[in-house]
Amino acid sequence: MSSDSLLAQALQAGGDAPALGTGTRLVHAGRDPKRYHGFVNTPVFRASTVLSPTVRDLLGRTQPYIYGRRGTPTSEALECALCELEGGAGVVLCPSGLSACTLALMSCLEPGDHVLVTDAVYGPVRHACDGLLRRLGVEVSYFPPGTGAELGGWVKENTRAVYLESPGSHSMEVQDVPALVAMARQHGLRVIADCSWATPLFFKAHAAGVDLVIQAGTKYLLGHSDGMLGTVSASPRAWPALKALHGDLGLCAGPDEIFLALRGLRSLQVRLRQHEQGALAVARWLQQQEQVARVLHPALEGSPGHAVWKRDFTGSSGLFTVVLKPVPFAAVEAFLDGLKYFGLGYSWGGFESLALPLDASEGRLRALCEPGCQCVRLHVGLEDPQDLIADLRAGLDRMQAVDMDSLL
Ligand SMILES: *Cc1c(COP(=O)(O)O)cnc(C)c1O
Repeated sequence: MSSDSLLAQALQAGGDAPALGTGTRLVHAGRDPKRYHGFVNTPVFRASTVLSPTVRDLLGRTQPYIYGRRGTPTSEALECALCELEGGAGVVLCPSGLSACTLALMSCLEPGDHVLVTDAVYGPVRHACDGLLRRLGVEVSYFPPGTGAELGGWVKENTRAVYLESPGSHSMEVQDVPALVAMARQHGLRVIADCSWATPLFFKAHAAGVDLVIQAGTKYLLGHSDGMLGTVSASPRAWPALKALHGDLGLCAGPDEIFLALRGLRSLQVRLRQHEQGALAVARWLQQQEQVARVLHPALEGSPGHAVWKRDFTGSSGLFTVVLKPVPFAAVEAFLDGLKYFGLGYSWGGFESLALPLDASEGRLRALCEPGCQCVRLHVGLEDPQDLIADLRAGLDRMQAVDMDSLL
């Protein structure tokens, strides 16, 4: 849905144009209770068919909605809200974050093209680059996420796009988006960025010059670990191709997931502030523990890209990586298996805390960790930090005990 849609026009007519605070925007974005008898929330429209009163209306497509896949008042509400928050020309909704990533890539690439992808890219996107994109005849190069303007040296005659993720998965390396955008402009490349960690609240990607901004809505937008959703917001020049491919692939998100995202949006700022404070308290505590080699958290000094984070971001969220000094893997298992408040599982962005062991000998982590180190990714939820710290304290003690045993 583009920013000139009917709902967007109706909402603009409400006169909420300049300089609203983020909280106010989040509460009112995409909402028009007058349309629904005054009920506060946009209803869940479950729809395929939309009936027309006459043949003329049907064939002339005179009505605002045509078919379920093409949009409902529910999907339109979220698209409008995100259009406003991201500041793009249009937003599309996808059934998952991953489908949003592959859609964004495919919308600016053709057979014979070359794309530059950050080496810290989310694993399943890398899988899609190495499989799907290569099968479609697209050449892929992975570059170190810390590369700035020098990335110009990687550009070839057939390079068409740069794909960023900042901070990147697992290694949490922050990228110099303004420098990369300036380089991309010189060479006429599209810039795609996965901004799921920062959300539209902590990083203004379009303002920084990004063409296609991806959110894994599954994470903080929904925020409650109960649904899957992805979104892509486009700059004016990237919008027509994105919209066309989204239509051709027949992508649409489920009405319940969209409703959950709209509901999540209303509390996004409050939740993120809490995730931020909790994660910082836990991360700083971990930094002081003797079993910990380092903590990879963009808001901590010494974390890769910290200075860039400080310059470009307005906050940090709940996900970061802990590098543990060398211990046997059984010690890591003892640490994680007994945790009371950290669930063991994939994904993140929900209200609850999560822990996940990472292979420190793989990918970007290898360069950031001494040999033998173990890594754990934590998502700090909305629990009280002192309870999480006590839980981790007991876990590190269990880890230590196993490590000692292993030395006997
Ligand atoms: C989880 C994640 C995705 C994929 O989102 P899904 O909704 O799980 O498909 C994409 N990018 C990043 C950075 C993620 O963490």
